[in-house]
Amino acid sequence: MTEPKPARPLDVLIVGAGFAGLYMLHRARQGGLAARVVESAPSVGGTWYHNRYPGARVDIQSMEYSFSFSPALQQAWHWSERYAAQPELLRYANHVADRFGLRDGIQLNTRVSGAAFDEDIERWIVRADTGETWSVRFLVMATGPLSAPNTPAFDGLDSFAGPVYHTANWPHEPVDFTGKRVGIVGTGSSAVQAIPLIAQQARELTVFQRTAAYAVPAHNGPLDPAFEARIKADYAGFRARNLRMSGGFGSELPPNPVSALAVGPTEREAAFEERWRIGGFGFLGTFHDILLDERANALAAEFVRGKIRSTVRDPETARLLSPKQTIGCKRLCVDTGYYETYNRPNVRLVDVGEHPIDAITPTGLETHGRAYAFDALVLATGFDAMTGTLMRLDLRGRGGLPIQQKWRAGPLNYLGLAIAGFPNLFNVAGPGSTSAFTNVIVSIEHHVNWIADCIAYLDAHGRSTIEATEPAESAWVAHVNAVAQRTVFLTCNSWYLGANIPGKPRMFMPLLGFPPYADKCADVANKGYEGFALA
Ligand code: NAP
Repeated sequence: MTEPKPARPLDVLIVGAGFAGLYMLHRARQGGLAARVVESAPSVGGTWYHNRYPGARVDIQSMEYSFSFSPALQQAWHWSERYAAQPELLRYANHVADRFGLRDGIQLNTRVSGAAFDEDIERWIVRADTGETWSVRFLVMATGPLSAPNTPAFDGLDSFAGPVYHTANWPHEPVDFTGKRVGIVGTGSSAVQAIPLIAQQARELTVFQRTAAYAVPAHNGPLDPAFEARIKADYAGFRARNLRMSGGFGSELPPNPVSALAVGPTEREAAFEERWRIGGFGFLGTFHDILLDERANALAAEFVRGKIRSTVRDPETARLLSPKQTIGCKRLCVDTGYYETYNRPNVRLVDVGEHPIDAITPTGLETHGRAYAFDALVLATGFDAMTGTLMRLDLRGRGGLPIQQKWRAGPLNYLGLAIAGFPNLFNVAGPGSTSAFTNVIVSIEHHVNWIADCIAYLDAHGRSTIEATEPAESAWVAHVNAVAQRTVFLTCNSWYLGANIPGKPRMFMPLLGFPPYADKCADVANKGYEGFALA
């Protein structure tokens, strides 16, 4: 066994080289800090490195889903499509790494396995699976809210004779389904993107659906040069307008301030049609109360079910594809030909909602007394969202407190950025923040700027540690929950609630409303980090 290499002093260690890690490294260096990114993958890119299943693409328009911190970058970069596909997003991440000279600060192929706060020296001692350790003042978890893939514990999964793919961990060599019978489990955003493309290639595709998904059309296509030119003529103004939107995006199509209940059926139908024609998340803004009032929500949901019925020719398949839960409660899917795919003769839908998957067998899958045969299995079964990555680490705060104990009843946090008992640790886009409801790049830039400014403040004021207080943390978690109570988000079993993972504590994790959240974070900082203890 090789001896661990000696600890090296650093100011900041950043875990993850996705968009959050890249920008954090840039900001830390700008602030004169000695910083290093440690990344388990052999490449930068995070989500866009791992999620390379057929059809993977962003569901926020690319002119918005991109960094705003560098005017030169946003002028220079050209997106080819309205919604960029995974390869282009990965090229963008690499471009950012090169353009800002970040590569020499990024250590790839190194998985952080644990970290413990040493109270005597007020530093985090971080360990990696390579045997390396680092001693750092600040630890920034830029690990992403959707980075721990969820593989359900299906009986017999290991016995399957063919290949098993997870959408969140897709192979880097081409996967060819030509002539193959494919089974896919799941119908969330990943599956909704993958199913149309796999169906085009495979001989036969069987979709195992537990909960039907709402999907609105992306109407993806080449980026309109006139739109690009208009945005680039005043990119700063466009970004500023988006920052005032609840999700940090969508200022070109703001929510209609009218209630769905205040208009007659003809006007309502026309409004839904218009937003359906435009496509994307703006559909949920057809009326302002779709995510707030179950009666308004039911009208939007029924409109989509009508679209499913008029698209899918087989009435029984259309019935099964028609979701029953409130629309938007689970994240809305943005699709290209999803419902149409069920008109193909080589695609069939099997409902596993009432009768779960009993077992995976060497030749396929069994449910409700029936066997289904396929040659390859795709798991589009999502993520242990928001907490999974940290909970899989040996992360210990003051007194050796493990994160698993701290978060046993749910992810206690303050501002989604900090955890009481875990000084000088920052979580980018963590539970308790608005990240999951926003254009995540907006959230990332906001968090990274806040963290960098916070570190600068500590240095300027001769402070060595900052730590969320328990009262501030409790009040924050109550606030996040109270905001959710005023919406439809507590009416279904979503990953926002942890309800997709058996045994995970149910706690509503994301916060709705970026502008008031950003104001609160600014206010906390302006008041000398109210709710934190500084030492
Ligand atoms: P997901 O939305 O959690 O979907 C997972 C699917 O697997 C669901 O249909 C789920 O059913 C099903 N499933 C899980 N365990 C199962 C089991 N034991 N038996 C049968 N079915 C099971 O995951 P995702 O599709 O990977 O998306 C997660 C999030 O990532 C999205 O909400 C989005 O935020 C992001 N994402 C974005 C894009 C994009 O367009 N840019 C693409 C992909 C992902 P239930 O619904 O019943 O739990």
